[in-house]
Amino acid sequence: MNAEYPAASPGTTVTPDEERPDLSNSNVREDLAMAGRCALVHLPTGRTCLLPIRHQGPCEFHRPQEAQDVVANGT
Ligand SMILES: [Zn+2]
Repeated sequence: MNAEYPAASPGTTVTPDEERPDLSNSNVREDLAMAGRCALVHLPTGRTCLLPIRHQGPCEFHRPQEAQDVVANGT
């Protein structure tokens, strides 16, 4: 995956995408990620992890309706 990656000089401006490489992953709901959640989507079930971002341990997947509540409440 790192092959051909441009050798940027130290101190180069880091884009948000580089800070959160998981955001570029289609398995993450960006709306939930912006709400500070792990937001990883379990594709086979369509459930989403609602634990805090960078949480310890395995993901806990919840129904899309619960995820929507989190997005609506912004917490
Ligand atoms: Zn998670």
